[in-house]
Amino acid sequence: MSNYETKEHDVVVIGAGGAGLRAAIEAASKGLSVGLVCKSLLGKAHTVMAEGGIAAAMATVDSRDGWQTHFRDTMIGGKYLNNWRMAQIHAMEAPECVIELERWGAVFDRTDDGKILQRAFGGHTYKRLVHVGDRTGLELIRTLQDKGVHSGIDVYMECTISRLLKDDDDKIAGAFGYFREDGRYILFRTKAIVLATGGVGRSFPVTSNSWEYTADGSSLAYASGADLIDMEFVQFHPTGMVWPPGVRGLLVTEAVRGEGGRLTNKNGERFMWKYLPEALKDDYAADVKEADAWVHDTLSGKLKTDYRRPPELSTRDNVARAIYTEVTQGRGSEHDGVYLDISYQPSSRVKKKLPSMYHQFKDLADVDITRGPMEVGPTMHYMMGGIRVDADTAETKVKGLFAAGECAGGMHGANRLGGNSLSDLIVFGRRSGRGAAAYASNLTSLPKISESEIKEAIEELEAPLTRTEGLNPYQLQQRMHEITSTCFGIFRQEADLKKGLDLMEDLKEQIKTVRCSGGKLYNPAWHLCRDLKNLAIAAEAIGRSALSRKESRGAHSRLDFPDTDEDQGHENTSIKKDGDRMQVSKTPLPEMPAELKDLLKKKEATHA
Ligand SMILES: Cc1cc2nc3c(=O)[nH]c(=O)nc-3n(C[C@H](O)[C@H](O)[C@H](O)COP(=O)(O)OP(=O)(O)OC[C@H]3O[C@@H](n4cnc5c(N)ncnc54)[C@H](O)[C@@H]3O)c2cc1C
Repeated sequence: MSNYETKEHDVVVIGAGGAGLRAAIEAASKGLSVGLVCKSLLGKAHTVMAEGGIAAAMATVDSRDGWQTHFRDTMIGGKYLNNWRMAQIHAMEAPECVIELERWGAVFDRTDDGKILQRAFGGHTYKRLVHVGDRTGLELIRTLQDKGVHSGIDVYMECTISRLLKDDDDKIAGAFGYFREDGRYILFRTKAIVLATGGVGRSFPVTSNSWEYTADGSSLAYASGADLIDMEFVQFHPTGMVWPPGVRGLLVTEAVRGEGGRLTNKNGERFMWKYLPEALKDDYAADVKEADAWVHDTLSGKLKTDYRRPPELSTRDNVARAIYTEVTQGRGSEHDGVYLDISYQPSSRVKKKLPSMYHQFKDLADVDITRGPMEVGPTMHYMMGGIRVDADTAETKVKGLFAAGECAGGMHGANRLGGNSLSDLIVFGRRSGRGAAAYASNLTSLPKISESEIKEAIEELEAPLTRTEGLNPYQLQQRMHEITSTCFGIFRQEADLKKGLDLMEDLKEQIKTVRCSGGKLYNPAWHLCRDLKNLAIAAEAIGRSALSRKESRGAHSRLDFPDTDEDQGHENTSIKKDGDRMQVSKTPLPEMPAELKDLLKKKEATHA
């Protein structure tokens, strides 16, 4: 008798964040049977932590906005490495997806005349982020969850998928996993799978990401034969908490700067002016007077303005490098960060606009942000790279396998703009659900799964519990963190990358013999044994891709190649599995249609 239960669905969605929920709702709306699997509780996915907002050119606050400007901002932010078709679909469909959320019950902040309020964010030309204070992710999840449970979706909570299964025809046939509480096994038989598992943040020691971010989606896809792209582009958010140590890395939302927060070093210098790229200087306020006028207008509700943005609203990669440089050159704050100050504004406004930040600092650091500055520093925040997908359907190279949200690559190029992830989730969550449903509807029966593959999946999961020799998973995780932070961090160079990759080879061997004590009941060490394999795939992919890109672009900064190289701007870095080896290659960007090139030209002329 088999020691696993079996469930059957037309479509299985792995991940119940914004992307997964939206995909599941869409697939269910086509009349299919949908299973939604998540390794935390429903409603607790990482999306719930999102703060600042959803980027969508609604033009409710600034009528000059439109999808064309959003598209252009996204491409400029991504240093033109984005999949243009994804960026176009995203910019065009984000507003209707926001309206859809509103119809399903989301209550966004409002302008005085009752329209959806939008706030400024780094790299966005106009005020564009639809938000609910600094708790936008909560509203998004609450709304989608509510809609989802009324759509007839079967939800499997606290269930981790450890392997994807294919049939003899090499197409998706199912997924195997276990329930976290007691380790009992479950097999999903299905026609199509949507991966929506989020990012890879836990491969770095300082991160804003939740415990769920163990690179499961990208690693499952890689193991099944899908390509990963642009894994060198790791976004370090400039503002994470730096003190106390227990909360180091926790996000300080960009909304603080969007609402007028000022960055200063220990000498009180507002240093961001020194770091604005020459080509983009015209986009930003020329001096403190102009920057303060922008804030003044925002505060007084005179929302339409021709003032240029304060320098603090430069893109994330740029601000993160600036802070890192200030600290390493000795101008950092007491705990190796810099100061971020919003306390010059009325305390009631700060509490209204940034309630979570107020409580986060008060409760965790005993700092009242209405009375003094916060201390902040860079934290690993987002993975721009991920599973390569078709822009229109979200299908990967593997038949029947789809991906959306942070685990998918292409949309954000070399650097993601704030707010563009939540919009990515709803736009491509919807598209992936539609794509998977269309694919599944064309199959007449569930593909077959061989019993030997299931046996292998079980043996792999149980091995760490039965070994008598091998290292503890926490020791191995610490080694990996040392490698990623010292060799694959904000600034990179060949010697470090090569050293890191050599160390990763040893680490991978050690992970093969990882060992833990106890049983399967409530055993986090056992979960980590499995996570390590996925984290190592992500870390190696980051290192190999970073080594292969011999230029600096967006979030990828090479000390030995500090300039951007025009030629390398025409290719993505691709990773694929070749037996036991990870193969890196370059693939040309798809050709952009002339009318979209024209859209970019205006900006390029001024910012070439
Ligand atoms: C603090 C913070 C604030 C942010 N604020 C913003 C913002 O304001 N605007 C913005 O655009 N972006 C923001 N981001 C980024 C954004 O929140 C994320 O990129 C986005 O929520 C990812 O959503 P997702 O649906 O791809 O994945 P998630 O929401 O992370 O969902 C992943 C799901 O996959 C499940 N899962 C993972 N692995 C497995 C497995 N093996 N088996 C089963 N289930 C699995 C998880 O349990 C979870 O349900 C923020 C990020 C952070 C960290």
